[in-house]
Amino acid sequence: MKDASPAAAPLEIFLSDYTPPAYLVDTVELVFKLHPTATRVLSKIAFRPNPEATDRTFYLHGEQLKLISATIDGKDANAKITDLGLTAQAPDAPFVFEAEVEISPQTNTALEGLYMSNGMYCTQCEAEGFRKITYYPDRPDVMGVFTVTIEGSEPVKLSNGNDLGGGKWHDPWPKPAYLFALVAGDLVNHPDTFNTMSGKQVELNIWVRKGDLNKCAFGMDALKRSMKWDEEVYGREYDLDLFNIVAVDDFNMGAMENKGLNIFNSSAVLASPETSTDANFERIEAIIAHEYFHNWTGNRITCRDWFQLCLKEGLTVYRDSQFTADERSPAVKRIEDVIALRARQFREDNGPLAHPVRPESFVEINNFYTATVYEKGAEVIGMLKTLIGDEAYYKGCDLYFTRHDGQACTIEDWLACFEEVTGRDLTQFKLWYSQAGTPRVAVKEAWSEGTYTLTFTQDTPPTPGQDVKDPKVIPIAVGLLNDAGEEVHATRICEMTDVVHAFRFTGLDAKPVPSINRGFSAPIILEQDQDNATRAFLLAHDTDPFNKWEAGRALARDVMIRMVTEDATPDQAYLDALLAVARDDTLDPAFKALAFSTPSADDIAQALFDGGVTPDPTKIYNTTQTLRQSVAHAMQDTLPRIYAEMQVDGPFSPDAEAAGKRAWGNVALSLLTRLDGGAQARTQFESADNMTQQLSALGALLRAEVGEEASNAFCEQWKDDRLVIDKWFAMQVSYAKLDAAPATAKALTNHPDFDMTNPNRFRAVFGALAGNTAGFHSPDGSGYALLADWLIKLDAKNPQTAARMSTAFETWKRYDADRQAMMREALERMKAASNLSGDLLEMVTRILNA
Ligand SMILES: [Zn+2]
Repeated sequence: MKDASPAAAPLEIFLSDYTPPAYLVDTVELVFKLHPTATRVLSKIAFRPNPEATDRTFYLHGEQLKLISATIDGKDANAKITDLGLTAQAPDAPFVFEAEVEISPQTNTALEGLYMSNGMYCTQCEAEGFRKITYYPDRPDVMGVFTVTIEGSEPVKLSNGNDLGGGKWHDPWPKPAYLFALVAGDLVNHPDTFNTMSGKQVELNIWVRKGDLNKCAFGMDALKRSMKWDEEVYGREYDLDLFNIVAVDDFNMGAMENKGLNIFNSSAVLASPETSTDANFERIEAIIAHEYFHNWTGNRITCRDWFQLCLKEGLTVYRDSQFTADERSPAVKRIEDVIALRARQFREDNGPLAHPVRPESFVEINNFYTATVYEKGAEVIGMLKTLIGDEAYYKGCDLYFTRHDGQACTIEDWLACFEEVTGRDLTQFKLWYSQAGTPRVAVKEAWSEGTYTLTFTQDTPPTPGQDVKDPKVIPIAVGLLNDAGEEVHATRICEMTDVVHAFRFTGLDAKPVPSINRGFSAPIILEQDQDNATRAFLLAHDTDPFNKWEAGRALARDVMIRMVTEDATPDQAYLDALLAVARDDTLDPAFKALAFSTPSADDIAQALFDGGVTPDPTKIYNTTQTLRQSVAHAMQDTLPRIYAEMQVDGPFSPDAEAAGKRAWGNVALSLLTRLDGGAQARTQFESADNMTQQLSALGALLRAEVGEEASNAFCEQWKDDRLVIDKWFAMQVSYAKLDAAPATAKALTNHPDFDMTNPNRFRAVFGALAGNTAGFHSPDGSGYALLADWLIKLDAKNPQTAARMSTAFETWKRYDADRQAMMREALERMKAASNLSGDLLEMVTRILNA
């Protein structure tokens, strides 16, 4: 595989070393003569010297290519070839480079470049896959106009841009090579049209394999709603006559925004009520929106270099979260986003893999498609909007779109637009892009004669390579309540700029109850001395829905930590507060479901570690079980009524209201299962006409350890549907009994349907293992050993997915000496494996070294 030689030192690349490309590209003509093991790629590229460049070396990237011929202006190029590229003498004037190479899509299991998935040809070029297709300056600041001809017997042949017929495609918009795409296969389409705001009709298609045509309608509807939303909210219109989406089974990521030809992991686009859960529908809608929104934030304006990845990803994640909030419930979306942020990004920011939103260096860019770049990158955009206000935000965006259309940009270009429209200096704000780590913000309160003062102190702990941090600008939204639960001071943004910063609220009749960091206005860890009575009060009365949920979360965390560390019994105040939430008819059912979800085992482990206690995953597992049992008992009179009231009649609809009712009803079912031995869940499992109800019932049975029979029936029923069977694989491991997850995962690798080359299936088993905290951290070390074995095996075929999944080990220093020793052994074993890829080597090295 790539960088296969173990002796070769990994090459670290630095942002500060950026130099402009020596040559620019005007046009690219590509001809593909498709063959599973011997595809010929003919390229004709018009280059011209870049006046901005200081260096005239003609260098093209290229990996795993068999060069047949290369010429410059029709004469042999006398090219020098290495494992990574090609150099030649080039004129200091415009010239045409032509090459013919041979590649083998069939044996390309890394799924980067041109590969095959179930007999279909497809591509994935971001970040550096195009160099596995032909020799090219494979960097995002080189943009060319592509014309592509595909020759082969496949009935459907697609590429970017507009269809010229006969397998020929032309994309009028200059683009970097990472946005190139090609698909060829026996596909059928779900067609539709969209009329843009200027009255242009766009042809839309979702292309799938024949059996999947009944799973396209929701994705198409989501696409049309996304197109409309981007016109209405950001004033952005689509710019080609055609927009194609293709579903592919073997795909490393969720989806890819190639110009005019988005390629999707089939799990991120195919949906039907029978086979997809409400969560699947919501995720599919968000990913379709995300990839579509990239047409402006990513494609029309792209990144100068890969250090600027957050320029397109943070912004586009922010835009898709705005879309979901508008289409569904803003409060529920915000809570879901913060749960995900804490689970993935805070964990990353707290460990050996912490890095800034804009990294300063990397070995393998594939390893920086992280929660920090994406989710924290989106939080930074949200803070910018909070600080400058909505009007200035959209004005700045308009300026960015106008000024930089067709360019490859940097974070500096982006921020300059907002400095210009506001007159504000964003130098301190920019620290959010360059400093890693989650700020801790401690708050103290003071009350004196009508004046209430909150004093905040910020501190960001050291992260790898960054020992000292400067104070950041932090927008902290604060509201004040009186003891009747009425708001006595509406939400105010306290703009913290110093290490210690005090904010005064005057003219108050009595000491208020503060509601701090409303809407999670800043991605910080708030350290607040708050007793459980205050938390219960805020859970009952806070007018900010996020902080209402947050108060319940803090209460649950405190209860669980005391159960773990002091063997306390479940706190009655917590149980009473939950009961009050359940009985409050003014609350959205989706909110109630979120209020009842207990903090994850990983959350509790981190909270214990932060408090100086070594977490014991077994104890956390048992505590969670005990707490859920107590909640079930405390609620036993109420549960049947909630369950009955939340049943949704009529044909299935994945809308937010129906989904919220099902979510809350299934929380009730899960608790009921602990009281009735699974009777109600079995009934629901057998009578369900949609996947949400069926899978929730199965989950409830498995969690209560009475689900074996239902699980077997589920497997039999869905054995021919690969996406549903992914769920079945994951459920076995996620809900395995204490310590049983490694053995369950191991047994599943022997199942005839286990296929390690399919990333969805591999993640179903091993992603679930990594996510089952007690199981992964089984005291005998079997979870660590098993995952290390399989990551070594996978790395030989698919380094990108193997490297990404190695983050399971990033929390290793939290745990006791025995577990640490076993995890270190697993990491060292991976590091020493022969022919390890640069991807996985970089990850295990970073995890070990911190
Ligand atoms: Zn993206």
